[in-house]
Amino acid sequence: MQNHWLRELHRLAWLLAASAALGLASGYPLLFLLLGLALYSGWMLWQLRRIHDWLKADQAGEPPHGHGIWGYVFDRIYRLQKDQQSIREKLEADVEYLHASFTSLSDAVVMINRHGMIDWCNPAAVRFLGLRLPVDLRQPIVNLLRDPRFVDYFEQGHFADPVIISAPIDQERTLSVHITRFGQGNYLLFARDISEILRLEQMRKDFVSNVSHELRTPLTVLAGYIDNFSLFADRNPAMKKPLEQMAQNARRMENLLRDLLELSRLETLSNETHKSQVNLQQLLAMIAEDARASLVAGESRTISVDCDGPVNIFGHATELHSALSNLVVNACKYTHDGGRIDVRCWQDDKGVHVAVIDDGIGIDPLEIPRLTERFYRSDRSRSINTGGTGLGLAIVKRILQRHEAELEITSALGKGSRFICHFPLHRAVGAGTIQQLVQQ
Ligand code: ADP
Repeated sequence: MQNHWLRELHRLAWLLAASAALGLASGYPLLFLLLGLALYSGWMLWQLRRIHDWLKADQAGEPPHGHGIWGYVFDRIYRLQKDQQSIREKLEADVEYLHASFTSLSDAVVMINRHGMIDWCNPAAVRFLGLRLPVDLRQPIVNLLRDPRFVDYFEQGHFADPVIISAPIDQERTLSVHITRFGQGNYLLFARDISEILRLEQMRKDFVSNVSHELRTPLTVLAGYIDNFSLFADRNPAMKKPLEQMAQNARRMENLLRDLLELSRLETLSNETHKSQVNLQQLLAMIAEDARASLVAGESRTISVDCDGPVNIFGHATELHSALSNLVVNACKYTHDGGRIDVRCWQDDKGVHVAVIDDGIGIDPLEIPRLTERFYRSDRSRSINTGGTGLGLAIVKRILQRHEAELEITSALGKGSRFICHFPLHRAVGAGTIQQLVQQ
């Protein structure tokens, strides 16, 4: 550019010098200088006209040929135009690609702008959500998806988990709707039809519940006969061991059916629990007492209960008893003779917490995420044959879910385990007072 500019200045200087020389020779230097300048300006105007005509054409083709700085300007503009064109083509191809992939998705996709208006949606959104194109574009999403669960979800803006709603066009179908944010406050809504998954899940629950129920009566009859026959085992020592094993396995199956039925019952209940007041201090003292009483003769554990006063929460007393005693019984089962179990309960600005801490066999940290799965038992616990069903922690998790609580598990092999139940603050009786204190 610098070169072109200097050359242009040279050209002007030569023209003016030539005009001045001709002017001096003819005796009219000023007139010739003016003529030279007029010639230069005319040439400039002509070049401007060429560039104007070229840019004005709808399909600007090759640039006009130009000398000096004008040639450079034509080339630069032409190159910039080409670059812009290829960027635009690339963007159009990307948009087309995304458009085609969203269009072909079987899940509904809706793009919503930061004001909550619909910008775009795919054909699946028309099918599942009943959106109409183009009429519903630029309409607020909450005016079209009016399910109160969705409206709350959208307005609260907590999009970590999906929300489950009935399909607006068919109340029999259930949709899982998940929103994510993108760009400058825009939203991307995904909706998936989960009716079939829910139906299969319900079938599984019904099957487990029916089978458990049907097996209970025959098993009670068999266990009764086994107990009766055991009374005569002394007369026939060869039968003693098989009868003992039969009785033990019958008990295991009874426990299994009991736990399966309990889990099925809990799964059919909604997440709402009764809100009666439960005194955790009393409940934990009772559970510890029962655990001490149920220890195998000759074995001992030190079980201590330490509560920050009479902590009360709103919940279902029987269910809380079942969950917390499961944790204390596990702590006894997976702790060696003479081991120590500390049960603690306290309240702080986050909520109410109950911890069951033991110095037992511990759990491999890799296994911790799977412990609350149904029938999951660690290899070590299988090998020490506790007679467990592998359903206890699944029951604990479900009960805690019904109390909006979470289970935190930390453990180290050979050192012991710590199971902490975290209940939200609003479950604490008198939480209002505590919240006020915290805010002050
Ligand atoms: P189980 O009836 O086998 O005890 P749970 O669901 O109650 O079934 O527990 C699942 C598994 O978690 C157990 O098999 C055991 O491996 C492990 N576990 C639970 N509590 C403890 C504990 N306090 N210490 C060590 N392992 C534990």
